[in-house]
Order: sequence, then structure tokens, then C-alpha cells
Amino acid sequence: MRLPVAAFGLPSDNSTTSRKKGSNGSLSTTAVRLRQELISLILSGEIAAGRRLDQRQLAKRLKTTTAPLREAFSALESEGMLVRQQGLGVFCRIYTVLEVEEMVEIRGVLEALAARRATAHISEVNLNDLRRIAAQLAKPIPAGGDQEYMDLHVDFHKKIVQISRSLRLQELLEFHRLIDVILANIVPGLWGTEPHDHLGVVDALASRNPESAEQAMRNHVAPTYHNRFASLRVRFGEGLILPATMHGR
Ligand SMILES: [Zn+2]
Repeated sequence: MRLPVAAFGLPSDNSTTSRKKGSNGSLSTTAVRLRQELISLILSGEIAAGRRLDQRQLAKRLKTTTAPLREAFSALESEGMLVRQQGLGVFCRIYTVLEVEEMVEIRGVLEALAARRATAHISEVNLNDLRRIAAQLAKPIPAGGDQEYMDLHVDFHKKIVQISRSLRLQELLEFHRLIDVILANIVPGLWGTEPHDHLGVVDALASRNPESAEQAMRNHVAPTYHNRFASLRVRFGEGLILPATMHGR
């Protein structure tokens, strides 16, 4: 069932998982240049939001071959600027603060439902596992540890959705990683700026009270992002969110 994910205009789960190594550090020199040029084309509006990117035409225009161009595409995908639609190609995608905020709100409601359902199935093994991750997430993030923190964070939330045993929720919440990737790219180090209580969520799940678990997750998701959105609004208003790398990070 791909439809709900496509309805958000977001990449399918396949591309979500295969994008992991798209950080700038692993790019070839040519791909780094192409990434910059593509960003310029997107910003100037020559590649318009929602438009499909013609790989052959772009390779010719940017005087390159398709291999490094694909590399640059992947990097921009992981930054949330491009989106791959299975069988259709790669599209230009730029988010507004409002859009990302909407995604987080939807996440809060759906994950609260997942937490509610999880109370009926959660085992002691599950709880110990979640407690271990929550304790890890409560530690200060070491320099350069943002990526690892993000992976662990997505893992924590995904586990609860899995425990809920709802395949539909699992599919609908595939975009969690995308939200975190977009935010991490825009404002590096932002994870460290907000208290982010995961142990409280585990305690609520351990009570096996559906209402408490639902409420705990509701209170956890949206408030967690509150300061991030405040700082994004200062920088971008209601306009498009652009990755920090473009502002000479
Ligand atoms: Zn969280």
C-alpha cells in the first residue's frame, strides 16, 4: 500500500533506506560540484519545485556523466530537496516550515495511536530494549554524533510502531526519518538544544494504560520540535527551507 506515503509527496520507503550514505563527506569531487550547481538551478527557479529532473539533459548542460550526477541526486535526496518516485524519476522538492510542521503534527497523532495500540502487545523484552535506547538518547550528543543520534532516535520511535502491530501505521510513518533528515540538514546540532524525554514515554508504555501511553506520545512528539520551528521561522518565515550547507555552514 504505497498510496498514503505518495499522498504526502514523499519518497517511498525503498529510497528512504537506501539514502543513508548520502552525506557530503562521501561524495566525489565532481558530485560535490554538481550538487552545488543543482542547488543553484533549484534556487533560481530554473528547476521548479515539483518538476521532474531530466538526467540526460542535465548531464549535457552541466558537462558531466550520469554517474556523478546520480551521486549528487542521492545527496540532495537525503537533504530532502529531491524526491525519487518509483518508476517516474527524480523530482525537485523544497519544503516550507509549514509543511514540515504539518508532518510533525501528523506524526504526533499517528504515533500516539501506535503507542496506544502498543500497550496491548508490549513485552518486558520490548520495554527493556526501549529503556536501553531511551537511556542512550538521554546522554549528551558528542561532537559529530548527530547522525548516530538521529538513527537511534528514528529506531526508538519505529520500534514502538512495530510493537503496535499495525502495518498501516508502519507505512504511514515511514516519513519520520525524512523529517529528521531535513531538520538535521537545515540546522545542524539542533538535537542538542532541546530536552527530549524518551524515558517518560517508556514508563507510560510500561503502565500498559492506553490513555497514558497515547497522551505521553502526544506530549512527546510536537513539543520536541517546538524550538526548532521557532528558530526556522526566524530564518525562513513561511518561505522555503533551504539546507544550511548553502549558507556556507
Ligand atoms: Zn523522540
